[in-house]
Amino acid sequence: MQFTDSHCHLDDIAFSEQLPALLAQCQHLAINRIIVPAIAPDNFNQVLSLAKRHHGNPLKIYPCLGIHPWFLQALDESHLKQLSESVNKSRNDIVAVGEIGLDGAIAKNAEHNGQTPEDNWNHQKYFFDFQLNLAKQHNLPVIVHHRQSHDKIMPFLKRYKLDRAGIIHGFSGSYQQAKGYIDLGFKLGVGSTITYSRAQKTINTIKRLPLDCLVLETDAPSMPLSKEVLTHNQDNEQEENRITALSTASSEVNSPINLIKIFEVLTTIRPEKSDELANQLERNIEQVFFT
Ligand SMILES: [Zn+2]
Repeated sequence: MQFTDSHCHLDDIAFSEQLPALLAQCQHLAINRIIVPAIAPDNFNQVLSLAKRHHGNPLKIYPCLGIHPWFLQALDESHLKQLSESVNKSRNDIVAVGEIGLDGAIAKNAEHNGQTPEDNWNHQKYFFDFQLNLAKQHNLPVIVHHRQSHDKIMPFLKRYKLDRAGIIHGFSGSYQQAKGYIDLGFKLGVGSTITYSRAQKTINTIKRLPLDCLVLETDAPSMPLSKEVLTHNQDNEQEENRITALSTASSEVNSPINLIKIFEVLTTIRPEKSDELANQLERNIEQVFFT
C-alpha cells in the first residue's frame, strides 16, 4: 500500500527542525507523496523551494499556490497580482491553486477588526472568485477550505464548473452537502475529523459516499487527531511507539505521519478491504492532480 497526504503545511515552522527525520518516517510508512498548499504570498517561496529542495527524493513534495481566507484581512489587489504572476511563473511546478475558500467564522468575528461581517464576506468572496478564475485560466484543480460556508461556496463552484474540479479540504458535513460537491467532480478530503466520535454526521457521510470521491489528508500541523486515536496504539511494538512519539511531541501539533492513523480509522468506517481502499484512494489522487 502507498499513501498520499493531499494536504499538509510541511513548510510550517513546526516542522523545520525535524524535517529530514520526519520525511524519513513518512517514507518508512509508505507515505510517498505530500501535497503542500500555500496560505499567503509570504510563504509562496517557501512552499516552492521546499519542493525543489527535495526534487530527487523518493518521497515527492508537490506545491500549490493560493491565498487562504484566514490570511487575507490586510491583503489587496496587489497580492492577487503577485499570486497571478507566481502561478504564471511556476505553472509547471505547482499541482493546484490552494488553499483558497470561504470561512464563516472569520466573517462572523470581523467586528473585532472593525469590519462588518458583510464587508468581510465581500472581501473573502472577491479573493475566492479571483482564484477560481485563475485556476480556470491555467486548467488547474483547486483546494478549497470551508467552515460554516457550504451554502456560500457552492454557487461559486457551480458558476466556474472547473474541468479538473479539486478537493474540498477537511470535509465535514451532511450527505447532501457532500453530494453537491461530488456532482461537480470534487473529491472530499478525509482528515482528523473522522477520529472524533462526536463527528457522527461526517462519519456517516463518509461511510455512504462512493469511494472514488475520497482522498486522505492531515492538514498538519493543524487539526490534531482525537486523543483516543493518538493513545490507542501506544502499547504496540517499539517502532510504533517511536513514530507516535515523533508525531505527538506536542499532542496539539499534527504530523503527516498521522495519515496512517486516519487511514486506519477509515478502514473501520468503510466496507472495503484495506488494500482495495488504499489503492482506490491513490487512484483518486492521480485523477485530481496527475492527469
Ligand atoms: Zn490547510
